[in-house]
Amino acid sequence: MSSESSPRNIVVIGAGVVGLTTAVKLQEQTGYRVTIIAETFPTDPKTIKYTSLWAGAHHVSHAAEDAKMMAIDRESFEVMWELSAPGGAAEHCFLRIPQADYCLDGRNECLDWMPDFKQLSGDALLGGAISGSSFTTLTIDTPAYTAYLLARFISRGGTIVRGAVQHISQVIEGGPNLFRSGKSSSEPVDALVVCPGLGARTLGGVEDKDVYPVRGQIVIIRAPWIDFGRTISHVEQGLWTYVIPRRCGDVILGGTKQDNDWYPIARPETTTDILQRCLALCPELVPPSIRAQGPGTVDDLRPLILEEGCGFRPQRKGGIRLGVEWVKGRGGQGLVPVVFNYGHGGGGYQSSWGSATIASDILANSLANPPTPGSLTASAE
Ligand SMILES: Cc1cc2nc3c(=O)[nH]c(=O)nc-3n(C[C@H](O)[C@H](O)[C@H](O)COP(=O)(O)OP(=O)(O)OC[C@H]3O[C@@H](n4cnc5c(N)ncnc54)[C@H](O)[C@@H]3O)c2cc1C
Repeated sequence: MSSESSPRNIVVIGAGVVGLTTAVKLQEQTGYRVTIIAETFPTDPKTIKYTSLWAGAHHVSHAAEDAKMMAIDRESFEVMWELSAPGGAAEHCFLRIPQADYCLDGRNECLDWMPDFKQLSGDALLGGAISGSSFTTLTIDTPAYTAYLLARFISRGGTIVRGAVQHISQVIEGGPNLFRSGKSSSEPVDALVVCPGLGARTLGGVEDKDVYPVRGQIVIIRAPWIDFGRTISHVEQGLWTYVIPRRCGDVILGGTKQDNDWYPIARPETTTDILQRCLALCPELVPPSIRAQGPGTVDDLRPLILEEGCGFRPQRKGGIRLGVEWVKGRGGQGLVPVVFNYGHGGGGYQSSWGSATIASDILANSLANPPTPGSLTASAE
């Protein structure tokens, strides 16, 4: 371990929204020198191996009666609300919008803490919904926001290294240099923070088979006249139809939720299905000049399409893994804490700051209270 006066070397694996947010959070604590190692960064071309660029994304918590998840989501909303304020540090990445949520299964989403919350009833419920609500939320322009997080991390002294880690022991023994120069770092790694999203399934030393993909297909259209969000859903039936406008004027239309479906590109028939469902939910998607002459059709939406694609939500049975394990360090170093923060499924943006706080607390506690011989109890989840 580094001496008491020198900063601790912390390595974060993963540069999706979870790894970036966690790295930024750790960097704000005193006494850490933080390095991110990742195979893919936000400014790279989109790839199925990097979920964060495929998200809508909006902040509409799915936590409902799960108090721990709700606290995580609420903290994240508060941070993003501040970032998105007029003149705020990342205003350009967010759009504050009125949102309507319709539930075909009549569930209570427990969102009465959101700004301007109203329960909807009677004629205000669209599309056969049994319950619903309206409130103000924010949407996230995912390429702009992940780039903002990366820039914030680097500008405050963070280091990034590109590398595909095969086993966490490579980082523990060799340090970040191994992936930069092929030689081991002179200073030991004091702690590892593991945020690889779906990569947790295959990353050696983690290999968490409770992590699996939930495929989500989307269509991105250009429709700057849309300044509100709408969702209609049925949890048991896995039905999710949503319209998410971004500040830049693009609108994300979705979606699908297919467990363990690894098909990595858009299916044309699903694109048509998404357009049909979104048009039924939101006829305002049709350009105003066409709507002036009567209701539009799916064919009126096709010329607006910028991109079709899909991403793999990194779902985990049992929810997000937030915990610590101790592994053997490099020769003579003793044990090193490995903190986990992955498995955010369909809510990695809306839970990013809250889960980063918990990961940061686990790390601080671990470094302050290393295990005594014989006291090790694997994970502290
Ligand atoms: C269609 C769709 C819509 C969504 N909508 C929303 C929404 O509205 N709101 C919301 O909050 N969330 C939404 N999500 C979910 C959100 O996108 C994810 O929860 C989030 O992006 C997960 O981020 P992550 O950092 O865990 O994973 P990723 O973004 O996949 O990042 C993983 C990182 O780990 C790195 N990595 C992995 N393995 C290794 C390895 N072995 N070596 C080195 N690096 C490695 C990768 O290179 C990458 O940098 C949506 C997702 C989809 C697909």
